[in-house]
Amino acid sequence: MLPLEQAQAQMLEQLPLPTHTETLSLNDAANRICAENVVSPINVPSFDNSAMDGYAVRLADLQQSLRLTVAGKSFAGAPFEGEWPTNSVIRIMTGAMIPSGADAVVMQEQVCVNEDGTITFSELPKANQNIRRIGEDVKQGDVVLQQGALLNAVSLPLLASLGIARVKVYPRLKVAVLSTGDELVPVGQPLQPGQIYDTNRFTVKLMLQQLNCEVLDFGILPDNQEEFEAAFIKAQAQADLVLTSGGVSVGEADFTKTVLEKVGAINFWKIAMKPGKPFAFGKLANAWFCGLPGNPVSALVTFYQLVVPAIRKLQGQPNPPKAVQLPAIAASNLKKAPGRLDFQRGFYQLNAQGQIEVHPVGFQGSHLFSSFVKSNCFIRLELERGNVSAGENVVIEPFNHLLGQ
Ligand code: AMP
Ligand code: MG
Repeated sequence: MLPLEQAQAQMLEQLPLPTHTETLSLNDAANRICAENVVSPINVPSFDNSAMDGYAVRLADLQQSLRLTVAGKSFAGAPFEGEWPTNSVIRIMTGAMIPSGADAVVMQEQVCVNEDGTITFSELPKANQNIRRIGEDVKQGDVVLQQGALLNAVSLPLLASLGIARVKVYPRLKVAVLSTGDELVPVGQPLQPGQIYDTNRFTVKLMLQQLNCEVLDFGILPDNQEEFEAAFIKAQAQADLVLTSGGVSVGEADFTKTVLEKVGAINFWKIAMKPGKPFAFGKLANAWFCGLPGNPVSALVTFYQLVVPAIRKLQGQPNPPKAVQLPAIAASNLKKAPGRLDFQRGFYQLNAQGQIEVHPVGFQGSHLFSSFVKSNCFIRLELERGNVSAGENVVIEPFNHLLGQ
């Protein structure tokens, strides 16, 4: 059996970054991957400005007396213009341009406004206090976003704040989705004896949409060699990645294998993880191929652990982000046999002592989907580990947005 980390590494090593790019307006670039190192055309802030409502001062003027007159105003969007007489201050607002020559801004709460309109300072301000200097946040020429960055609600506003209207991105990935199995029925049709609903195509399509892929739905394939062959040939001609579920476990694998080997080179892996042992990965003539196990929980977990990083690489991320892992305390006993990395579904929360505590959420069978909806994390139990007793330390992976967190 192949350790999960090795499978992940092998896939990422083999998969290429995209070769084509296109340039889009920021609005159209949401959820794409950035295809260039974006350089800032401006300084941010683009001028020295005040961090407070108060008074701009020259420290030299305060050497004589702490009582000064107010010579003018600098408001956001309306800077102070004209001569600034000695022994005076300028009234200034947050974000307003610092008048030339000012060394500090004193916040209005720290001054006394006298009846004659003069201002008295209680202490000498420090040089530079409350001044946001030009280029303090971003300098002109700085790389603000790396090639491979996800263009989202944080990175796109950054570009907007720099006046960048268009960005070079990688194309959307086309993914063909197929379910295999004579027993499968599309959601919405009545079930005959022995039939089950096709859950996997639904799960996978939903996550692919969240990953901003273009989904090509090839429906359900009956377990029939001719139909398999025709569908695979058609799918791989149209897509960048062909994603199937079912038909990769022992017995059935031989059949899928024969067909896939005609159209490409596929590895059938037994991955040392639970759920989700059988997994196929390789290259067809024109597309990459991932074959998920049939059991819905296994299909989801292998998609999440193996296919998501693969998609991220094909979309343009050289180093796809790894799942966040946190230490937690098992709130009750967990059943675990050594030999496979186990992703149990759990619910984590802070306990009264402020520690992360994780509760298992019922039956953990690879065909049981119901426990998933009660969970908010995977309890990641290491390959060599046996049963876990309540109170032991475990590692959890909080679900990311693909699983609705
Ligand atoms: P297989 O790997 O094809 O032997 O499938 C393993 C198990 O998963 C069997 O119980 C299948 O009925 C079930 N299964 C396969 N594909 C799906 C699917 N798309 N949705 C729900 N269950 C499936
Ligand atoms: Mg099957």
